[in-house]
Amino acid sequence: RELSIDASSSEHADKIITAIEALPSVKVISYCDRTFAIHQGGKISMVSKLPLKSQSDLAMAYTPGVGRICRAIADEPEQVYSLTIKGNTVAVVTDGSAVLGLGNLGPQAALPVMEGKALLFKEFAKIDAFPICLATQDTEKIIEAVKNIAPVFGGINLEDIAAPRCFEIEQRLRKELDIPVFHDDQHGTAIVSLAALYNALKLVGKTLEEIKIVINGAGAAGIAIANLFKKAGATTIWLCDSKGILSQQRNDLSEEKKVFAVSTSGTLADAMHDADVFLGVSAPGVVTPEMVHTMASQPIVMAMANPIPEIQPELIYDDVAVMATGRSDYPNQINNVLAFPGVFRGALDCRASGITINMYLEAAKAIAALINSEDLDREHIIPSVFDPRVADAVASAVRQAALQDGVARK
Ligand code: NAP
Ligand code: MG
Repeated sequence: RELSIDASSSEHADKIITAIEALPSVKVISYCDRTFAIHQGGKISMVSKLPLKSQSDLAMAYTPGVGRICRAIADEPEQVYSLTIKGNTVAVVTDGSAVLGLGNLGPQAALPVMEGKALLFKEFAKIDAFPICLATQDTEKIIEAVKNIAPVFGGINLEDIAAPRCFEIEQRLRKELDIPVFHDDQHGTAIVSLAALYNALKLVGKTLEEIKIVINGAGAAGIAIANLFKKAGATTIWLCDSKGILSQQRNDLSEEKKVFAVSTSGTLADAMHDADVFLGVSAPGVVTPEMVHTMASQPIVMAMANPIPEIQPELIYDDVAVMATGRSDYPNQINNVLAFPGVFRGALDCRASGITINMYLEAAKAIAALINSEDLDREHIIPSVFDPRVADAVASAVRQAALQDGVARK
């Protein structure tokens, strides 16, 4: 007579409740949504590290004692790293223009995501991250705001800022700041995708240099993935956007897209002929089984549109060598959380003055290397997000690369 259903973590929770309420023989007496319940009051809070019990505690932590600390930093600015929170603190900055896959929801609606990101930073890499949601979507104003808050932070994680604005904001901030600036929707995705591809290629016995890769989606994620794959040695990469193949015949391409224009024009279906790899960071359901059947032998499909992939895995599971998605309810989840905590841990630990593509490449190799050859199979090309080795392995790879590239200050 009483039924308890827990759908709190489902993206369809609202629909499930509505459907149950609509059943003729059922009366819903009450319901509780745990996802809403855990968000009451927000997900993070500030904690102090010091006792404040006596006059003397107070006089050291605050004035007058703190004045000597201020002077020490003014005399020797590098000391800010050891005498303040800066060295372990990251700003998670958004303008709310591309919140998850939900679109331009604005800065307030983006806050739960940025709080969540801060929570992940803390849990996976012991980094203190602040959500910063800006009330502007103007490129110049965003750049100005981030520059003005930079003194507090050891690194800047740009998040959920729409393309193409995100490219300029990141490039300009990298030039103008002496701390790492990392747009996770671009590079976090690229690192984890490359790690997955390395292991998928091992399984099918192909190399990056010889394969044809089709990337559907030429936004923040698609462009960054194409850039990183190219740096890693891929020679044949075809990108498609909502209008088809990025071809030299098109006159509507942005600067970022032009870099990848090829001589062939056509649709995504045309591009997929003989492709060894399909990687989707575009939109739900845009790939059909027939399109996959025209790919080269032992095709690798990474359908990463969230929450609904470019093609449902069940439709092609038996026809492909490897299938990956962005989802946690299928094998081979390509999730940025495998990369960003370790990337920032490594960068902060060596006080990196910037971030280099070498750091991404080494991070990708480190993630891939966590799956040893006995464990590697078509349902296990990438470690679990809860694999406790991941953040340390990525951090150490990033530190090494920072040293090699001369951006480590410690
Ligand atoms: P974005 O910057 O908005 O870019 C979206 C791109 O997809 C654009 O180039 C757009 O084309 C293209 N596109 C849209 N509809 C298309 C269609 N029907 N056919 C072909 N291309 C289409 O978004 P993003 O941040 O790159 O993310 C894209 C998708 O990837 C989202 O679903 C996101 O959730 C997913 N994603 C997943 C992961 C992950 O699993 N780890 C990470 C990042 C992103 P135009 O340029 O012509 O508009
Ligand atoms: Mg994001």
